Amino acid sequence: MKKRINLCMCLLAIATCIVTFVATLTISYQAALARMETETMRQAALVAAGLEHIDALDSDEQKAYMQAIGKSDRSRVTLIEPDGTVIYDSNYDHSQMENHLERQEVQEATNNGTGEASRTSATLGQQTYYVAKLLDNGQILRVSNTTDLVTDDLQRAIAPLLLIIIVVIAFSIWLATYLTNRLVRPINTLKLDNPLENDIYEEISPLLHKIHTQNEELQKQMDKMRHQKVELEAITSNMSEGMVILDKELRILSVNQAAIRLLGAAFQDFAGQSLIALNRDQVLNRRASEAIKGRKTEHRMENQNDRQLQIFCNPVRGDNQVRGCVLLIVDISEKYAAEKSRREFTANVSHELKTPLTSISGYAEMISNGMAQPKDVAGFAEKIHTEAGRLLVLVDDIIKLSQLDEKAPMTVQFEKVDLKKLLESVSLQMKDYAEKKQVKIHVKAEDVIASGVPRMLEEAVQNLCSNAIKYNHVGGNVWLRDTKHGDIVYLEVEDDGIGIAKDDSEHIFERFYRADKSHSKNIEGTGLGLSIVKHIAELHGGSVGVQSYEGKGSVFTMSLPQNASTVDE
Ligand code: ADP
Repeated sequence: MKKRINLCMCLLAIATCIVTFVATLTISYQAALARMETETMRQAALVAAGLEHIDALDSDEQKAYMQAIGKSDRSRVTLIEPDGTVIYDSNYDHSQMENHLERQEVQEATNNGTGEASRTSATLGQQTYYVAKLLDNGQILRVSNTTDLVTDDLQRAIAPLLLIIIVVIAFSIWLATYLTNRLVRPINTLKLDNPLENDIYEEISPLLHKIHTQNEELQKQMDKMRHQKVELEAITSNMSEGMVILDKELRILSVNQAAIRLLGAAFQDFAGQSLIALNRDQVLNRRASEAIKGRKTEHRMENQNDRQLQIFCNPVRGDNQVRGCVLLIVDISEKYAAEKSRREFTANVSHELKTPLTSISGYAEMISNGMAQPKDVAGFAEKIHTEAGRLLVLVDDIIKLSQLDEKAPMTVQFEKVDLKKLLESVSLQMKDYAEKKQVKIHVKAEDVIASGVPRMLEEAVQNLCSNAIKYNHVGGNVWLRDTKHGDIVYLEVEDDGIGIAKDDSEHIFERFYRADKSHSKNIEGTGLGLSIVKHIAELHGGSVGVQSYEGKGSVFTMSLPQNASTVDE
């Protein structure tokens, strides 16, 4: 604006100077021309008066008078006979000059006594003004001046005039710049934060009031937006799900901490960056692009920490247009693992059930179609009975596991459990089995009170104790112990039996895993006992582990938080 005002003022000053210059020249020229014409007339009148006065003189004296006049002035003086013959000219040889009778001024003077004309002189070739006067003796006196006289005067005035104009233009430019600066300075230094505090031209006052109103409106909007942003951040930062808000170009508008963590990116400010900066997964980027086109999409992926993520990409609409999209990232690892283990469990259960059922079906078929010898029937029936027994144990374990699966830690009701009594009770229950296997059970119990479900804890110790007897030698020992360190209580079942190979000990808590296949053939089992123990320990907020040396024996330890009532809350 400043430049424009300055330029306009400068141009105006220059234009004014040029117009003034041209006008001054034109007016001066016109005035000088008029002055020259008047002067010529005056001279003609004077010379005519002189000639008439010396009319009595002879022609030589007349000539001498004419010559004297011609020399004393710049004007040209011509004397013409009534027939048009030029008898004297102050600037030229009159004998060379043509007859002047037809000249306009001569004609006018012959007819009216005085004549004038302005034209290019045939003799001089210059624009000339003529005045002719009829003398009493019939002769015509003509006095003329060329416009050169005028232009010469003007040319002399041009240089100083130009100088003045240049000075005026320079001054005008300086003045224009100074005035523009003065005019614009208050506008440039306007305090727009507090528009009403400005003391400036009253013409700008309505604008300042408008700015003030808009400032207030803007401030309100900003406060509202800031408030909403804080609210949104508070919500999203406490979310365990990741949330990413993208604009139409897939640039990040907002991303919460959970999203950065789940997508495995380094923590930094991602605002304005592309989604690629957050995660390079091509399919995710494609799904987000599809959401921008208005289609809800989903994507499953595994992050660097092997977590299973499910990502929902939803378009965000405004004014019937897709403005961007929101990605909601959910960690479904637990759900995924549970689904996977359920699938495996179903497959394993079917397989495990099939084996005894196939035997039962085979023996029953042989008996029913008479293929079995009467003496073998009792043996076959015994085998059917054994397989059915195995089947019952298996189904029983499966039911127990399913029931445990259904229970969530929060829903379990805990009570105080006297572990010493519990161990003694298990020892008593296992007595017959131990004697049958020729294994001794030793209870080394302290008075420890745990918090839990007595029936479940007993079931777990029974399983461990049963294994300790089952996977033992004749004459072997089993020790049942309880102890407490700090807030943790420990239940230990130790044996000096066959032990577990290192590779197997990592898997024995998995469902249907049986350590040594050669054993499983000889020793009956379902491969579910330790899974049940593990499940029970976890439901109590604890865990189970094993330390074992092949051929030497094993120690199974269940650790449970003593104040397990917290789990109950
Ligand atoms: P099972 O019904 O086969 O006993 P478990 O889940 O109770 O199933 O045990 C899984 C496997 O762990 C067993 O097959 C066995 O090989 C091994 N195992 C468990 N307890 C012991 C132990 N005390 N000594 C040696 N091996 C054991």
